[in-house]
Amino acid sequence: MKHSTKSVWGGEEKSLIAGATQVPIVSSVVFAYDDVDKWSDVILGKEDGYIYGRMTNPTVDAFEEKVRVLEDAEAAVSFATGMAAISNALFTLLSPGDRVVSVKDTYGGTNKLFIDHLPRFGIEVTLCDTTDHEALEKEIKKGCKVLYLETPTNPTMKLIDIARLSKAAHQVGAIVITDNTMATPINQNPLQLGSDLVVHSATKYLGGHGDALGGVICGPKNLVNQIYEYRMINGAPLDPNAAYSLIRGMKTLQIRIERQNENAMEIASFLKKQPLVEDVFYPGLTDDPSHELAKKQMNGFGGMLSFSLKGGLEAVNEFLPRLRFAHLAANLGAVETTVGPVHTTSHAECTLEERKAMGIPEGLVRYSVGIENASDLIEDLEQAFKYIENKITVK
Ligand SMILES: *Cc1c(COP(=O)(O)O)cnc(C)c1O
Repeated sequence: MKHSTKSVWGGEEKSLIAGATQVPIVSSVVFAYDDVDKWSDVILGKEDGYIYGRMTNPTVDAFEEKVRVLEDAEAAVSFATGMAAISNALFTLLSPGDRVVSVKDTYGGTNKLFIDHLPRFGIEVTLCDTTDHEALEKEIKKGCKVLYLETPTNPTMKLIDIARLSKAAHQVGAIVITDNTMATPINQNPLQLGSDLVVHSATKYLGGHGDALGGVICGPKNLVNQIYEYRMINGAPLDPNAAYSLIRGMKTLQIRIERQNENAMEIASFLKKQPLVEDVFYPGLTDDPSHELAKKQMNGFGGMLSFSLKGGLEAVNEFLPRLRFAHLAANLGAVETTVGPVHTTSHAECTLEERKAMGIPEGLVRYSVGIENASDLIEDLEQAFKYIENKITVK
């Protein structure tokens, strides 16, 4: 099966009951047995079945299966949110005295885990400059339990070489986790590049409609099972209603991503020519520092881009409300275009100083391209540029 077939058919078979063509929302918290021995066998894992909603559920199961098939993984486990997936993975795999190596501009919530929470448990965290592969390799060589990657990064769209760093990590016996939220399984498959685990905020592109929260991790059975055991106790399962919305959204994953890839390329090229735009960050642009790596490691350049305006935050504040076809909102990866400045979106959790340390300019606009017509989006941007032209003082 190719990606588009997987996103439509993948993982559903077992959960289609009574001839239903769509996976039903099973809202029952518990599952009953006529036979105590069978019940016991299911608890012991000797037989397939469902026990209690904090463990798993037929709707949730179908969602996990669909992502598993798309990532070509042995196993998958889902969570209430993307952050639950990330924190459960890290708290499962790390113990006091262990060390994590990662990069400075991971997602804001992940960065918060690294700087505030893991250190409280005696876990050492080393964050390198995101694109400095030599520095990363040097830190990995010193020994670490986990190498945590995110590529492309949010919001400056920097790329990290998954294959190269996975190789370095495996030489010291580290487990590699890659956040694949931005790329989706359509544009990038980290497991095939050497990452041990892949994590998604399903809230974004997988669901694609901004109406359900969720997270998921895929990888080999032994690691995924460990994380599942921890999640079961930690208590952050995916809700069956959300699982249903995510499954429904994922059926169109391939065609949405293809369209978003195309739209983002057109818009990035347009922005590049705008006199009021200081910088455009999009790996699809041939002069982008990550372009060559993107061609090597990705199947598409993605639907996310960011750009900075001459005139800084002041200009951004005038510009954004003029856009007609863009929600000013913190979400990304939906069918509608969403925009926002960084301090209210991906890095709302961080202070100004923390954002500065991550190399994120305050005049940066995160633009998550939807599936609208690209010419309409460009016209919309054009009129907003025209509006601010005379209003802002260019520094
Ligand atoms: C949004 C996001 C997360 C967190 O996901 P939630 O579902 O909001 O908890 C993690 N990583 C990346 C790259 C994200 O964009």
